[in-house]
Amino acid sequence: MRIAILSRGPELYSTRRLKEAAEALGHEVDVIDTLHCYMDITSAKPAVRYQGRELPYYDAVIPRIGASISFYGTSVVRQFEMMGTFCINESVAISRSRDKLRSLQIMSRKGIGLPRTGFASKPDKIDDLIKNVGGAPVVIKLLEGTQGIGVVLAETKKAAESIIEAFMGLKANILVQEFIKEAGGTDIRCFVVGDKVVASMMRRGAEGDFRSNLHRGGSAELIKITPTERKTAVAAAKAMGLNMCGVDILRSNNGPVVMEVNSSPGLEGIEKATGKDVAKMIIQFLEKNAKPNKNKTKGK
Ligand code: ADP
Ligand code: GLU
Repeated sequence: MRIAILSRGPELYSTRRLKEAAEALGHEVDVIDTLHCYMDITSAKPAVRYQGRELPYYDAVIPRIGASISFYGTSVVRQFEMMGTFCINESVAISRSRDKLRSLQIMSRKGIGLPRTGFASKPDKIDDLIKNVGGAPVVIKLLEGTQGIGVVLAETKKAAESIIEAFMGLKANILVQEFIKEAGGTDIRCFVVGDKVVASMMRRGAEGDFRSNLHRGGSAELIKITPTERKTAVAAAKAMGLNMCGVDILRSNNGPVVMEVNSSPGLEGIEKATGKDVAKMIIQFLEKNAKPNKNKTKGK
């Protein structure tokens, strides 16, 4: 196969590992800087240009689109979809995953366990918004934050009200969410490829932080997940339409709840915590599934 990895950095761990794994399995791999792709989007014969030439036809594209380049990145992925290339994650699914609200709405329709979550733009009744998710303490999240930035725990109703008012004053879109205290500052990252959880780890926040993001100084360890957690992660990936993703789950008293689904999940943390060759499993998935015109939505 001829595979393109869309990535801003050939030296990044995940990009390097995917390239290595693909080459070890006998495939040809190009790492392409997403932001340097350009295209004639109206041509009857869609193509992507890069460094002054037309890119060849690829059997598969692995998009590694950082949150900061979602808009341009998904349009590049969409162009590959127009050419019939199999993109392991489709542009529409990546866009869905970039919006926490849209993700939760799509997953709730499929009956997936979720923390009670409210969304509002200008409620006259902030107290009702808080009450509606079960009352304080609540977690307040900026809709477009990543890596734990913009995720705040409000311990009391008073604190919640003033944080919500402050965010609204800044015209930020926010979610107000039930605080899953019993998760104890941990979450479970399930790495899904196709319809399987291929690796999972438990992440624990830095001392005193309820957020378990590794970027915020958390640590990770191997964990055995329950069958319900496995089912939940696979159902979440399917609802989102992602073939490769990280599903973050909290262990709540009511069973597993999905907090978010990441469409460009990092390989370093999960491979180091589990000792599994996740990169190889991703390439093997492509070997089985990368057929021309097999993407479902093609930008719809
Ligand atoms: P980001 O997308 O910025 O990583 P998350 O929504 O994943 O933001 O939240 C960051 C961390 O905060 C999570 O990994 C989790 O440990 C913690 N967290 C988030 N929401 C809740 C919640 N409702 N209850 C308990 N902990 C939470
Ligand atoms: N194309 C719409 C979207 O991506 C529909 C998604 C859906 O309802 O699953 O959001």
